[in-house]
Amino acid sequence: MEQVTKIAAPGESQTIAVYDPSTEEQIGEITDGGARAVDEAVGRARDAFKAGLWIGKTPSERTRILNRAAELLEQRAGELGAIDSRNVGMARAHASNLVFAAAEQVRYNAGWCTKIYGKSVDMKMAGGITGETADLLGYTLKEPVSVAGCIVPWNGPVLVAITKLAPALTAGCSVVLKPAEETPLSAPILEEIFVEAGVPEGVVNIVNGYGHTAGAALAGHPEVEKIAFTGSTEVGKLIVQAAAGNLKKVMLELGGKTPVLIFNDADLPKAIAGAALGIFINSGQGCICGSRVYVQRGVYDQVVEGIAQTAKALRLGGPDDENVDIGPLISAKQLKRVLGFIDEAKRDDVEIVQGGYRLDRSGYFVAPTVLTGVREDMRLMKEEIFGPVVAVVPFDDEEEAVAMANASDLGLAAAVWTQDITRAHRLAKRLEAGTVWINSQLAWDPAMPFGGYKQSGWGQEYGIEGVEAYMKTKSVYTGL
Ligand code: NAD
Repeated sequence: MEQVTKIAAPGESQTIAVYDPSTEEQIGEITDGGARAVDEAVGRARDAFKAGLWIGKTPSERTRILNRAAELLEQRAGELGAIDSRNVGMARAHASNLVFAAAEQVRYNAGWCTKIYGKSVDMKMAGGITGETADLLGYTLKEPVSVAGCIVPWNGPVLVAITKLAPALTAGCSVVLKPAEETPLSAPILEEIFVEAGVPEGVVNIVNGYGHTAGAALAGHPEVEKIAFTGSTEVGKLIVQAAAGNLKKVMLELGGKTPVLIFNDADLPKAIAGAALGIFINSGQGCICGSRVYVQRGVYDQVVEGIAQTAKALRLGGPDDENVDIGPLISAKQLKRVLGFIDEAKRDDVEIVQGGYRLDRSGYFVAPTVLTGVREDMRLMKEEIFGPVVAVVPFDDEEEAVAMANASDLGLAAAVWTQDITRAHRLAKRLEAGTVWINSQLAWDPAMPFGGYKQSGWGQEYGIEGVEAYMKTKSVYTGL
């Protein structure tokens, strides 16, 4: 089904149809209230912040409330997983697992509420106001940014939203969250959960709409002090421009082109399974998906064969299909984009070892695709495809592998498979990425900071770094 939406005049509300990408059928509708709705939501958030409704609670009370929210998320994981799996098309078990991961995220952050404090410094300043050496006590205060605007993509609606809401609430902010227009259905339940747990109304606000309407209005709003964005590198650059008006603090979690390096001495069954899962999970619609696999020549044929066999065995289907591994792409637009890369590869005489076609059924399903015989200067090796498409490339030695891995404008994650511990750690230092996996892929933990090098982003989420991203530091000097 072609997805068409009427464009409203400025100031007018418009409706956006929401689809099930596994059937192409409409499953809902939201209203894009544009700049006016954003302004109202920011107003509610600002008023709640100024009234101290949330930050006025004791830290341990906030910890208790956030822990309660984590429990409620777990209790409603089935419901939220079912909504996201239908709306994103991902396997139901995968969608529910992401909700449990989101609950862990809230629980981890909840613990920090009681551990936010500055530092004190004893000072002596020579030649002060009186010309004499003065004794001073300095200390720092950690203060929340007031209203944080959060803009998220469609590929993991609950988890990515919670990755912003949890640290922002821990820091004491009020939040306005704009979900992706393709996947807005679970976000209102998140607001409901936080309110039920005890977060005062007005602190968490959801606003729906397109990127160029509601998203742009939020990014440019003069009363939003911080913008936290997850999405494409292209839109990330627009966010920076929009944020310039009031010089908002900006955090960007952007695209990736994760290189995976497999050496002759790797534990091959694990490396093959890791590389295959690392790209095909969520049909390749993950910022950390390993779309470039570099393999040392001694094991190249085995790895190509292994990834191709795994690709062939994967079961594709929608939320209602039994025993599904992966689902469809999110939309007709994304399908066209991914098939465009595959067609270009065919025209460039790239070898399609496995897949390379759309499934003959309803829904935006693309067969997991394995390519060989690519050149490093091809578009598919440079740009994020965001689909189940992997290129496998041979290399001779470490130098060549590192050079190819680092030859990208993006630097979100990288993986190394080797039994040589010194090489593993040497490469961890040399690879230009915010996350490096050694003999693992897709590993994550709420305590580990996550962010992109190069054009994969600004700042970090997760860990205490993620909470500090929503805080400001004030220095106070006291003459003694
Ligand atoms: P997108 O950039 O098109 O949209 C993301 C969000 O930004 C949506 O809510 C959209 O409505 C909004 N938006 C679009 N234009 C806007 C504008 N002009 N002003 C303000 N907001 C605007 O990305 P997408 O297609 O939804 O998601 C896929 C992208 O997200 C991929 O590039 C992927 O790598 C990235 N991603 C990154 C991470 C990470 O943590 N680094 C995680 C998941 C996804």
